[in-house]
Amino acid sequence: MTDTAQPRLTLASGVQMPQLGLGVWQTPAEETEAVVAAALEAGYLAVDTAAIYGNEEGVGAALAGRDDIFLTTKVWNSDQGFDETLRAFEASAGKLRRDVIDLYLIHWPAPRLGRFVESWKALIRLKQEGRVRAIGVSNFDPVHLERIIDDTGEVPDINQIELHPRFQQLERRAFHEQNRIVTESWSPLGQGTLLSDPVLAAIAARHGKTVAQVILRWHLDSGLVVIPKSVRADRLRENIDVFDFALSQEDMHDIALLDDADGRIGPEPATAAF
Ligand code: NAD
Repeated sequence: MTDTAQPRLTLASGVQMPQLGLGVWQTPAEETEAVVAAALEAGYLAVDTAAIYGNEEGVGAALAGRDDIFLTTKVWNSDQGFDETLRAFEASAGKLRRDVIDLYLIHWPAPRLGRFVESWKALIRLKQEGRVRAIGVSNFDPVHLERIIDDTGEVPDINQIELHPRFQQLERRAFHEQNRIVTESWSPLGQGTLLSDPVLAAIAARHGKTVAQVILRWHLDSGLVVIPKSVRADRLRENIDVFDFALSQEDMHDIALLDDADGRIGPEPATAAF
């Protein structure tokens, strides 16, 4: 597949981002270099990691010399604060072997720490200094977004949140759109739990595609950035083989009905234990 066949979204800051990338949460450190190398081989143009994943070194080793690959990493909660975030960035950039990171995110608002505004100011500084091309957040509720926007005037390019057909986050997406924030879906396959869903299986059969491919196509057709994770070369290839079909209105309608207010798998941002 050629690079140009893959869709990109333009962030409010003007930076272009591939709409599909590889997620590496829970990819073991010792396997990460090989997994990311296999993803590059399969044609992936973006990788999503985080300091807390413990595998930035493997990502950096696989991406050495590949500054064309869009790279995202995130500052962990225990490094929140202005100086702490700047230090955490240097550590991540070193492990990732990059002077410039494409997208740097605050991983969680961790409101009880009360330091996410200071971290956001550090991200703004990093962008001013040219160390990151774009800045954003993850797991921020509208109240957290409003706080950083009101305090700094700087709107994040992205909010990366849990989002999949069983937890579609329509209100959050509407809020993001009003503020020109791109929504990025984490656990886009519901960590694999959606793959046996009969409605999705029927749609997959209609298109001659797998359920994983239908779900990923749904994210793309919904205007979301999507970062499925796999460590298996066959699934890495499967998950990027999604650019040659489109879902019908009927398919989209059927998937809309899978939304469930209780469909969340991960922690709730406002009350997470950290
Ligand atoms: P996911 O929804 O991508 O599911 C991954 C799992 O689905 C795999 O471990 C595998 O078991 C299965 N799978 C993947 N492709 C498959 C295929 N083609 N066929 C069958 N099974 C398949 O889950 P995830 O890893 O939680 O989320 C993706 C990425 O999102 C993470 O790797 C990480 O980068 C990011 N993430 C971010 C946060 C955050 O707080 N910001 C939280 C969770 C995940």
